[in-house]
Amino acid sequence: MFSFSYSILKFFNGMSKTVVRYKHPSDHWSVLRKKVHPIHKALNHFDDFYNQVFNKKWFSIRKALLGRQKYVAVVNYYGDNESTMSNLELRGALNMRTLFNLEKGYINETANEKKTKKVLDEVLRLDKIDENIVENINSNDSKEIELNAKQFSLAASLDNAELDTKRLVDSKNLLSTEILHEFIPATKIKGMEDFIPESSHYKMYDQDTNFAVKVEKQYDIRFPDHLNIYCYESGNNSDFDSPKKGKTGVYNYYLMDGGSILPVLALDIQPGHRILDMCASPGGKSLLAIQTLYPECVVSNDVSNSRLNRIKSVYEQFLYDFDEKWLDTGKVRLSNRDGRYILDESFDRILVDVPCTTDRHSLHENDNNIFKPSRIKERLQLPELQKELLLHALKLVRKGGIVVYSTCSLSPIQNDGVVHMVLKQIWEETNMEVLVKDMSPALLQTRSVYEFAVKNVFRYGHCVLPSIEQNYGPTYFCKLQKIN
Ligand code: SAM
Repeated sequence: MFSFSYSILKFFNGMSKTVVRYKHPSDHWSVLRKKVHPIHKALNHFDDFYNQVFNKKWFSIRKALLGRQKYVAVVNYYGDNESTMSNLELRGALNMRTLFNLEKGYINETANEKKTKKVLDEVLRLDKIDENIVENINSNDSKEIELNAKQFSLAASLDNAELDTKRLVDSKNLLSTEILHEFIPATKIKGMEDFIPESSHYKMYDQDTNFAVKVEKQYDIRFPDHLNIYCYESGNNSDFDSPKKGKTGVYNYYLMDGGSILPVLALDIQPGHRILDMCASPGGKSLLAIQTLYPECVVSNDVSNSRLNRIKSVYEQFLYDFDEKWLDTGKVRLSNRDGRYILDESFDRILVDVPCTTDRHSLHENDNNIFKPSRIKERLQLPELQKELLLHALKLVRKGGIVVYSTCSLSPIQNDGVVHMVLKQIWEETNMEVLVKDMSPALLQTRSVYEFAVKNVFRYGHCVLPSIEQNYGPTYFCKLQKIN
């Protein structure tokens, strides 16, 4: 009896040993299916957060972000530029300068018509006026009106624009600030990172001080004469061929996201300028600045040494005799510092294209994704790092100089939120005077190429929204001028 029960027990014991759970290897389909990849985490985060910011619009932005990105071709002045341009045109690509000029002409014409109509309306309101007077106004004053309209666009150009000091931005009325109220500095959530959902990283942020912000409108964009950039019209999603090397041994054009053009145009680079690209790798925007042919010197800085090597290789591919003609002459400098500690040196223009959540990239690439659990602290600390980089740039730039802050994120925290924190800190702690350049009127001339977020989402800067027809961006940029 004993030996029978013992053998049954032994039999069941043996069975229980065989029921050990078998673990699939990490690349097995059933494991992969269950795993939440960083790209999915990113999408969840964006759905949760951007839905609140962009409302219904988020669904079309989302579709575009998940779709195929569109590029523009920046013609390399140091390649065979004339033949490159004719080839691009033969393939149906359009020169962006021509598109902007056409739109500018159309805007001026409409402004003239509106002005004529406004004068007529005013005159007709004085009811004693007979038709003869109206005819006179139509024939004689139209010249004057045209002149006025021209003066309007000239006078309203970057240099002569009047200070719009009436427009004080009340931090309480800013949508972005409302969202910023919900931002906790990453230091305050130490140890809780794994427990809070993405959306709750943005909790009460003490920000009750109102302060005045000077805003000046900019009415025109100066498109550098030698810069030639080609794009396909809205709805045409043709790809550009891969760049080719020409007679001079360098590539004929550089392909980049169309949104990336605008922060560089916003810098308004002039002949003889000294430019700092504070976070420059892989170097597309530095190269664009060089292609204007205006800078006396471009300093391309990046904190990462390996990424700095990428800039060098871009330069070698696009600027012939790079070492002798560019590095040795000091026209280009490669610098490997943390942008927050770049030593005092005066620059006319500084681009602060900060590390950010790189929204489009985060939805497509798992490798090195900022939404990886191992990078959560880094992600939460981004706004603080961005703030410090921008603040330092404003300290470095010369009086009257321009700083453009940019990201490739839709996040109001990383965009207007950071600008807001910086302006507030400057207001509270320094005597520096900074002007926000509202480029909305000037950007009207780019509307055949880009779609922008409406002004109540971003008050300080401008944001190119990805769309199915023009799948560029996201690119946020904010132009600031140091007055004092
Ligand atoms: N401007 C580049 C372009 O258009 O090709 C893209 C810049 S990318 C958005 C941000 C860069 O900032 C990364 O290359 C990163 O290594 C660099 N970076 C991150 N932290 C930095 C810091 N503290 N100082 C300087 N660069 C930094």
